[in-house]
Amino acid sequence: MIPALMPTYNRADLAFERGEGAWLWTADGRRFLDFGAGIATTSLGHAHPHLTAAIAEQVGKVMHVSNLYRVPQAERLAQRLVESSFADSVFFCNSGAEANEGMIKAVRKHYAETGRPERFRMICFEGAFHGRTLATLSATGNPKYLAGFGPPVEGFDHVPFGNMNAVRDAIGPNTAGIMIEPIQGEGGVRPADLRFLRELRAVCDEYGLLLALDEVQTGMGRSGKLWAHQWAGIEPDVMSSAKGIGGGFPLGAVLAREHVAKYLVPGTHGTTYGGNPLACTAGNAVLDVILEPGFLDGVDRVARHLWRGLQDLAARHPRVAIGVQGAGLLMGLRLREDLSNTAMQAMAVEEGLLTVAAGMNVLRLAPPLIITEAEADEALRRLDRAAARMEPARDRAAAQ
Ligand SMILES: *Cc1c(COP(=O)(O)O)cnc(C)c1O
Repeated sequence: MIPALMPTYNRADLAFERGEGAWLWTADGRRFLDFGAGIATTSLGHAHPHLTAAIAEQVGKVMHVSNLYRVPQAERLAQRLVESSFADSVFFCNSGAEANEGMIKAVRKHYAETGRPERFRMICFEGAFHGRTLATLSATGNPKYLAGFGPPVEGFDHVPFGNMNAVRDAIGPNTAGIMIEPIQGEGGVRPADLRFLRELRAVCDEYGLLLALDEVQTGMGRSGKLWAHQWAGIEPDVMSSAKGIGGGFPLGAVLAREHVAKYLVPGTHGTTYGGNPLACTAGNAVLDVILEPGFLDGVDRVARHLWRGLQDLAARHPRVAIGVQGAGLLMGLRLREDLSNTAMQAMAVEEGLLTVAAGMNVLRLAPPLIITEAEADEALRRLDRAAARMEPARDRAAAQ
């Protein structure tokens, strides 16, 4: 019989009762170091005192009023995001897919309103992940995810990640923009070359295209800068954010320059929940912490520490790992082809460490941004034991 909870996920048989910082406890008292952070989402860890207090206070006042009225919490959060990014204006929604839908619509609308409605196509990349709605699935382009859901939404052309010649070849009279994750998350924690990102900006300028960045996973401090594109010294025309932006409370955002934002006038786009007082209170509380002087430097520091440790670990286990990839606190341990990343993930669970699988046979580490070096070291010890258990049996025997 089908479970009451629709079986769209292969869930680990773990249920957590409470958390604190980078740690989670099951009801039967087992403790886990959470280096998945709810898929790069609980950016401040669990039960962060500032975030929980802000939410608790707001919940007792007013949670939701709809966008028929002014929402001061949303106005404040938008203003702060504008001040700390390239953007002139922000639209709030509830998830990453929804932010990307808004971003795609904003790009199309820009061309429709400037007399070039034939420009509606986006150049996207192999290995991308942009979400599970029909349009974002089409932007994702993975045939496995698209199968069974009828014709894909029209207007997405895929080229190999990092291949500038292919990008240039794909530009045609219907091209509106280029949509890319600065670091492919689900696709394997694969960073775009900073030079490639700069070349994309340049080619957009050359052809009058819009650069649309999906920073749903890489944004809000995950890379060690507030936005991952800042490492490349470029600015997009429009960008999506979600995951870490609400610290675990559902919140998404489309951040746009004025020339993109100004056509989304009343009636063109909307949401019932999006940007409600509770969600934006969470967003403001997360931003309070991340914008504290020194916080992002701390993320960068602990990320470099973890990165070095992970490289040592990969070197110690050449029969398991072939390398480390990623940036900031979004890291991947790439496993040998004959081993499975989900098996390694299960081994890590046995050692009390939560991680997330990603494409390219990668085991993804995306811990809360508040982890200490001691917690990074503890994760490395647990991962080292998990890696030892992954050594193929014949190699283990030979080593004894
Ligand atoms: C997770 C993710 C999405 C989808 O976000 P949802 O909140 O699951 O809809 C989109 N883009 C990227 C880069 C993501 O990592």
